[in-house]
Amino acid sequence: FNVPTPINEPVKGYAPGSKERAELQQALKDLKQQQVDIPMYIGGQEVRSGKTKTISPPHDHKHVLGQFHEGDGTHVTQAIEAALAARRDWAELPWEHRAAIFLKAAELLAGPYRARLNAATMLGQSKNAFQAEIDAACELIDFFRFNVYFLQEIYKQQPESAPGMWNRLEHRPLEGFVFALTPFNFTSIAGNLPTSAALMGNVVVWKPANTQIYSAHVLMELFQEAGVPAGVINLVYVDGPTAGDVIFNHPEFAGIHFTGSTGVFQNIWKTIGQNIHKYKSYPRIVGETGGKDFILAHHSAHPRQVATAISRGAFEYQGQKCSAASRVYIPSNLYPEVKAYLQEDLKSMKMGDVEDFGNFINAVISEASFDKLAKYIDGAKEDSAVEIIAGGNYDKSKGYFVEPTVLVAKDPKYVTMCEELFGPVLTMHVYDADQFEETLDLVDSTSPYALTGAIFGQDRYAIDLASKRLVNAAGNFYINDKPTGAVVGQQPFGGARASGTNDKAGSMLNLLRWVSPRAIKETF
Ligand code: GLU
Repeated sequence: FNVPTPINEPVKGYAPGSKERAELQQALKDLKQQQVDIPMYIGGQEVRSGKTKTISPPHDHKHVLGQFHEGDGTHVTQAIEAALAARRDWAELPWEHRAAIFLKAAELLAGPYRARLNAATMLGQSKNAFQAEIDAACELIDFFRFNVYFLQEIYKQQPESAPGMWNRLEHRPLEGFVFALTPFNFTSIAGNLPTSAALMGNVVVWKPANTQIYSAHVLMELFQEAGVPAGVINLVYVDGPTAGDVIFNHPEFAGIHFTGSTGVFQNIWKTIGQNIHKYKSYPRIVGETGGKDFILAHHSAHPRQVATAISRGAFEYQGQKCSAASRVYIPSNLYPEVKAYLQEDLKSMKMGDVEDFGNFINAVISEASFDKLAKYIDGAKEDSAVEIIAGGNYDKSKGYFVEPTVLVAKDPKYVTMCEELFGPVLTMHVYDADQFEETLDLVDSTSPYALTGAIFGQDRYAIDLASKRLVNAAGNFYINDKPTGAVVGQQPFGGARASGTNDKAGSMLNLLRWVSPRAIKETF
């Protein structure tokens, strides 16, 4: 077989007066009227526990969009049982059928599901229309299409044979079930983590972040309509410790596909380690766990280019990307211009509700996130060694709004240069333009993370030096570009150190983690 050659889904512009904008606005209106009652999905059945929690948009926390049914340990057990019951049929289904299901999912999402999933992402996660389109529509369509292509490439990899002997590799799924634990910040990641494992023949228990359930529910409908059989992906809403208790004690736990915080991932890893003797196989542990992503400008950089990278790299989707630029190193000669451009850019970024398409900045995801950011901003206000050159205001009366904020810290190891804030607060350090080499060491040693980073400059010797000295400081390294917005099939995404296992989402490397090959030798 030859699967269709994947192409990246073109991004729609949602221009005023366009058909696509009208459709999206209609989908927003429809969703807001629905008051949806969201069940769990176990073994293809809708499960309502009766213990409900309301869902509200982060930009309008008094408005209720609907409710979801919260489960407990019993539901997790049922989800595992349903997954295991579906396992053999799914694992034995010829791969082209699995591929066809996800190719269909791509086309359903490109067409009839697009507006609704984008609208659910906008309302539930406070993403503006353009960020929702890039994430929930385009990136997830790309994951589906490219993963099918990568699956074929993996299956094609076969050993040499000779007359009288035939060697082959059978890419079996893992023996047991896979647990997908997914984040709020990308609907595409929430969609990709369960489906990439399922595509390779695995059965999955999926627990999304509570703050993403509104769009997770639409994803589940999409999977079902595309033909994912009952029990292959089971969706439960349970608190982390309850889910972990059941899952990590189960002998058939075969792997975890995770995106979330470093602390949670480390605890999970420890638990798995403590329980290792209980499992049939060594579980696959695949995780992406945050970043403290840098932009470093050399004195030969173009200030306008650097400022654009900062304003987009740090503030798109309120900086709630693991890849978001959050610490910036600017040489003294460029600082005045970069500062002026940045202040001008931020002034033009309107903040408010996602339903007004003119708003670029929306709310942060939750009250907890808002309070944490407010605390860091207050700390900066009180510190005489920190200057706030833009933003600094916040207000949670209607929604969790934090103004895009730029701090300039004298100390390159100031707390917000080191810790992940996961919001629209950026810290800049101005270094002496002759101290480029010393600054490289600083960039490398300041944070435990190593997800993304960018170097700006026109001097090739400087770029080469940065590329060598920062070889382990980022899994996605950008030269003269912002450190966000990796595209499936173009820049496989992931980092090492405290940022994760670097199994590169959207690549063969990731899919290989979800197979356990059997080598077969046959002689004649
Ligand atoms: N892949 C996204 C990017 O390149 C980031 C994903 C994340 O935040 O986890 O911007």
